[in-house]
Amino acid sequence: MMGRDRLRIAIQKSGRLSAASIELLARAGLSFRMSRDRLFCFGESLPIDLLLVRDDDIPGLIQQGVCEAGVVGLNVAREHALAAKDSAPAYDELIDMGFGGCRLCVAVPQDEQWDGPAQLAGRRIATSYPALLGDYLQRQNVEAEIVVLSGSVEIAPKLGTAEIICDLVSSGGTLQANQLKEVAIILESNAVLIGTRASLADERRELMDLLLRRLDGVLKMRESKLLTLNTSRESLPSVLKLLPSSDPPTSMQIAGSEDRVVLQVLCHQDISWHQLEELKRAGAGHLLVMPVEKMLA
Ligand code: ATP
Ligand code: ZN
Repeated sequence: MMGRDRLRIAIQKSGRLSAASIELLARAGLSFRMSRDRLFCFGESLPIDLLLVRDDDIPGLIQQGVCEAGVVGLNVAREHALAAKDSAPAYDELIDMGFGGCRLCVAVPQDEQWDGPAQLAGRRIATSYPALLGDYLQRQNVEAEIVVLSGSVEIAPKLGTAEIICDLVSSGGTLQANQLKEVAIILESNAVLIGTRASLADERRELMDLLLRRLDGVLKMRESKLLTLNTSRESLPSVLKLLPSSDPPTSMQIAGSEDRVVLQVLCHQDISWHQLEELKRAGAGHLLVMPVEKMLA
């Protein structure tokens, strides 16, 4: 049914992860032509196509071999893997995509005092993540009743379905609006690329590796800062030793000022105030830190 020479990635059709997924893939050099029914995007720049589906369906689609990879919240990836714990995992978590951050947490009524997980014993807890919640309760040695709801979990206490919930939160605004407070974090989540890299043997394996390399490059660049400074030739050796990067710096001579050199270096992590102070003490001047992302915009 499916070509062995094209890769298929499933992404969320419409929701919190859709736009950022497409944007990141586009930055990795992929371009697409959308089908008329808006369910499929044909890869134009590379033989990598997109399938637009509900996020919950993505792990299953990979498992069935309909696609080789997909972008989902870690919450969905882990829930599906835990729920199918008897069979071997159908996919690996390949790359943290760096967006869609949220946490799966337990929330109780605001007026309830929280003394710890033991308090959940015998209670009813509403969630869309029964496997993750069940795993958490088991690790805490607590038995509780899990009420599975597919959406609007936060209104369960108002409906009388359950007094406690286990749901995804980012700002916490929804909890507050429903007179609930967060008391325990079960999982910190980000969007991840999941896929079946290991079991691919044909051209798709190479395509997958290319995709992973490109995404890795894009994500690294997102974090990167360009550090510019100048220094005297005399201080150059000690300044070079302190540069917060393993990349080789570029140096430039300032016209008319034979003694001073301008250095530029790409740093892949944050540069701390402390590191900048140390550079200054070693003789560096005019330090400037620029996010590379901004320079490209
Ligand atoms: P679908 O129709 O595809 O099933 P959905 O309602 O399940 O959509 P969204 O609400 O768009 O999905 O959430 C998709 C993912 O976004 C979540 O699984 C989670 O990883 C992430 N996310 C980030 N912040 C939040 C948040 N505040 N609430 C819920 N999900 C969040
Ligand atoms: Zn969903």
